[in-house]
Amino acid sequence: MSTTTTTGGPATQAPAPTSLYVDGRWRAASDGGTREIRCPADGSLVATVSEATDDDVRDAIAAARRAFDDGEWRTWTAARRGALLRDVAARLRERTEEFARAESLDTGKRMVESRVDMGDIADCFEHFGTLAPHSAGRLVDAGDPMVLSRVQTEPVGVCGLISPWNYPLLQAAWKIAPALAAGCTFVLKPSELTPSTAILTMDLLTECGLPAGVANLVLGSGVTAGAPLAEDLRVDLVSFTGGLETGTKIAASAAATVKKVALELGGKNPNVVFADAAMDAALDNALNAAFVHSGQVCSAGARLVVEESIHDEFVDELVRRAQLIRMGGPFDEDAQTGPLISAAHRDKVHTYVRRGVEEGAVLRCGGEHAEDGDLKAGFFYPPTVLDGVRRGMSVVVDEAFGPVVTVETFTSEDEAVAIANDTTYGLAGAVWTQDAGKAQRVANRLRHGTIWINDFHPYLAQAEWGGYGRSGIGRELGEAGLAEYQETKHVYQNLDPQVTGWFAEQEEQA
Ligand code: NAD
Repeated sequence: MSTTTTTGGPATQAPAPTSLYVDGRWRAASDGGTREIRCPADGSLVATVSEATDDDVRDAIAAARRAFDDGEWRTWTAARRGALLRDVAARLRERTEEFARAESLDTGKRMVESRVDMGDIADCFEHFGTLAPHSAGRLVDAGDPMVLSRVQTEPVGVCGLISPWNYPLLQAAWKIAPALAAGCTFVLKPSELTPSTAILTMDLLTECGLPAGVANLVLGSGVTAGAPLAEDLRVDLVSFTGGLETGTKIAASAAATVKKVALELGGKNPNVVFADAAMDAALDNALNAAFVHSGQVCSAGARLVVEESIHDEFVDELVRRAQLIRMGGPFDEDAQTGPLISAAHRDKVHTYVRRGVEEGAVLRCGGEHAEDGDLKAGFFYPPTVLDGVRRGMSVVVDEAFGPVVTVETFTSEDEAVAIANDTTYGLAGAVWTQDAGKAQRVANRLRHGTIWINDFHPYLAQAEWGGYGRSGIGRELGEAGLAEYQETKHVYQNLDPQVTGWFAEQEEQA
């Protein structure tokens, strides 16, 4: 495989990049098309990669189809598939620095965060590798000892996997690992902004012995390289992580071709802080909830919902600490957060902030592009706190997907729950209190797929992840994350067939 880079050497005639992976071979785009990948921290060129055409995508789907229908992959036992996934996990742990560096250059995120992501990705492969041999199905008691009835699981088939830029390999791994554990084949389409770790992963899978055609990679825009996956009749399932608008289009295409669809979409996640919370931890985690990875996290705690009696003290300290957060590039050891992914995305975040202020929010800090020194070369936006917001404002309703937290207040448990549930999304939420009974009551009433009590952000590969409402359809991780990639089939065998007599022959009428 080749990508082309221009850093660190004399100018030479670069060969065409061959970064599409189809049927076990690296190849260039059929029309020679390319795309430049640039680091959002400073605009430097990271790589030039192939840009797939419709034909390339169709070739990749055909390869995945052949590998599923006729290839040796179908003869692999679940135990063997599981062993391969655990091998992927082990090798990824050994190559953490290489993968983390590629991820940081594409996204601009700090190396320390990318290293954590690589550990989580290895855990994900490990989890599904362990689960694979234990999901064969079950025997069912048919109420007749001469009937053998079993429900067995089988792979769904060819999967189209479409992933976003914020956690490029992590989000892809949540799909790749269960797809392979189940015995599916796939075509992966990562975000056009962040393809580098997907490219590395194809080589890793091949090194671990995955047969040709099982894993295929197409790069390019959503319209050219992503949409055909959702539209093609040869694809049995499309699993998508990304924004609501794109998810809606993919669901429509999947409906038109009656394929299975799994959607992991956005969130507008409440972080509810009661007056009896452990204050230092609640405050520290409120910063983490809102500003880690500059808020470009689907489960970001973008709505701080704080009990009115502690509002002033809590928010004053939040603002003071937010202003101290140091921004910088991936390799800046002092940086605590990185840039936004693109100029267009930074403009979108800024528009939400400006509109919030116009609608009456009080800007307590941030709210302007960061242009000091080295930051000018990247797409940096400072941690921003908008106080005094009202339900219904666009900055409270829509996912800004940046380092912006809004502050709302409540005076009763019922009101806290009502505010926290006042969103059409339902991905995640948190409640902070030292009253265990209150914590459980509130957690049980929140309509979100993950609830943290006295914490924010941790997730486990063993526990399901996904959204209520418009945060999506289906679940990733856990056991349900594997079930997404499985069909279930009921096999009913009568060991002692009998004449039923239902249509017993009638005497012919005279
Ligand atoms: P996006 O919807 O713009 O793009 C996601 C992917 O879809 C990309 O690969 C893109 O090229 C592709 N795409 C775009 N248009 C397409 C089309 N018409 N057909 C097929 N594919 C198409 O999202 P993004 O900006 O990359 O990611 C940010 C979004 O992802 C946020 O809304 C965030 O909340 C969400 N997200 C959700 C989760 C979760 O677990 N629920 C996790 C991470 C990110």
